[in-house]
Amino acid sequence: MSVLINKKRCDNADACSCIEECPTKAFYWDEENQTVAVDNNLCINCRNCMISCEAGAVKVARDEEEYRKTKTEYDEDIMTTEELFQDRYGAASIAEKYVLELERLEQIVEDSNKPLLIEFYNEDEAKCLINSIPVKEIIENISDSISFRKVNVSNIDGLKKYSISILPSLIVVKNGNIIYKWEGFLNIDEKGKLLDDLKYQLKDIK
Ligand code: SF4
Ligand code: SF4
Repeated sequence: MSVLINKKRCDNADACSCIEECPTKAFYWDEENQTVAVDNNLCINCRNCMISCEAGAVKVARDEEEYRKTKTEYDEDIMTTEELFQDRYGAASIAEKYVLELERLEQIVEDSNKPLLIEFYNEDEAKCLINSIPVKEIIENISDSISFRKVNVSNIDGLKKYSISILPSLIVVKNGNIIYKWEGFLNIDEKGKLLDDLKYQLKDIK
């Protein structure tokens, strides 16, 4: 039996939870090639790695047939490394202080005397998390002039008053008005446009 790593989905972090959870050090960090790796000779098939990999990038095959099937599946996986890059921005967990309840949104928008960027997403939809808007990058680039909140939305009807019909989406509000809106997830090559748009919209706002 063998452990397979889907390198198209693995984010190749040296702080890999599979390495932490592996009781035999079969799962390890390959210093020379700067990658996570498995020594199948040391593996005892405990499956800890498969369970602990947050990205679902590891499989412990039970037999030859499962090994072959999984290998083909991984070889044919259409996910690209660029999409993974997108993942790392959108799907990363967010600090509690940034999370806002939908019920409080209206009041917060009314009171917004400095620009506030709000991302709407649905935490139950993997696609929504995976393809989320790269908010970290946005905030890093324009952090002096804008605050940020993230709102988990289970029913899109609650966003009708903001004319939003798909998730994820983001709006920028100030003094109760929407001054910018972006609906839908971003491809890698659209990130630059979003940042440019936002900088332009905020250039005269103090
Ligand atoms: S936890 Fe999974 S995705 Fe992350 S580095 Fe380890 S094997 Fe790769
Ligand atoms: S199955 Fe267990 S022993 Fe084998 S690599 Fe995974 S965690 Fe380590």
